[in-house]
Amino acid sequence: MGRIYNFSAGPAVLPEEVLQQAAADMMDYHGCGMSVMEMSHRSKMFQDIIDEAEKDLRTLMNIPDNYKVLFLQGGASLQFAMIPLNLMKNKKADYIVTGQWAKKAYQEAKKYGDVVAVASSADKTFSYIPDCSDLPIREDADYVYICENNTIYGTKFHTLPNTKGKDLISDVSSCFLSEPVDVTKYGMIYGGVQKNVGPAGLVIAIIREDLIPETVDDTVPTMMQYKIHVENGSMYNTPNCWAIYICGLVFKWLLKNGGLEAMQKRNIEKAKILYDFLDQSKLFKGTVEPGSRSLMNVPFVTGNEELDAKFVKEAKAAGLENLKGHRSVGGMRASIYNAMPKAGVEALVAFMKKFEEENA
Ligand SMILES: *Cc1c(COP(=O)(O)O)cnc(C)c1O
Repeated sequence: MGRIYNFSAGPAVLPEEVLQQAAADMMDYHGCGMSVMEMSHRSKMFQDIIDEAEKDLRTLMNIPDNYKVLFLQGGASLQFAMIPLNLMKNKKADYIVTGQWAKKAYQEAKKYGDVVAVASSADKTFSYIPDCSDLPIREDADYVYICENNTIYGTKFHTLPNTKGKDLISDVSSCFLSEPVDVTKYGMIYGGVQKNVGPAGLVIAIIREDLIPETVDDTVPTMMQYKIHVENGSMYNTPNCWAIYICGLVFKWLLKNGGLEAMQKRNIEKAKILYDFLDQSKLFKGTVEPGSRSLMNVPFVTGNEELDAKFVKEAKAAGLENLKGHRSVGGMRASIYNAMPKAGVEALVAFMKKFEEENA
């Protein structure tokens, strides 16, 4: 059996060339006689892997020198706590709630301070990004928090909020490296890599140096202090060596394929194929307001639950997998990350056309 088209939201499809490289390196990485999984994280071999990964990521995203790059564990979800514990100096922060991940981050932060949801799109099941041009951001808020691409609902901030001078903290898990980004507009950018970059279990955090506090509350666990990870080059304890290595290969794949400008162009092209079809279909309907659409996660429905289930089942039989919508919203969702080839999206649309004809 060959490879399928995998529309999973995460863990998700990786570039075939990267998987092949990892397979070729598996028994004997660069002549050292072992795999990357088996080597000491204190070895020169691994130090070179992590240094090269950071260097390539800095090139890809054009990360300025005054930003630290950290490779952390605990998933994006641990950042929901680490962010307030480290960055909420006045114990006040303003959150924009545009979906489940933003809501989880907001609820977690509330444990540690005076946290307010200054905007939300819960009124229409998170199907749009609210107008964030003039929000009641508090004078003494430490930061403004967003989830930039909402994996579950398929919305994306196309304009960053006006934070009125406050530092912007952004969860980019599901749009990481999908388009060029101006890092200087953010205090911190972070994402779990298992959506668009690499294997599960690694989070990359890019934080402006001056935001990282010298001291935090005594009760903050050592492992949850950014300063500790900065001082130890992301190796205070054993890092997720394997995931760092795979991400490094993905960074090289991105650089070789034209970097983030080229990815953006490809991603726009791919998403357009699917959205154009949805916009004229008599059976399928996209669930997101057109101005808020994500290039990465595309939810859609037929309006009939039984027909949705039939579609998911028949699509799977046709080699188009993981199209079931998130358990909280139902319907379908196609995640079309960087590594999803255009041919995969074309195959999906061809299948949808056929299904529409057969079920009219
Ligand atoms: C998947 C996801 C998370 C959670 O990631 P974990 O690594 O499972 O903790 C957080 N935010 C967004 C936007 C996600 O898509």
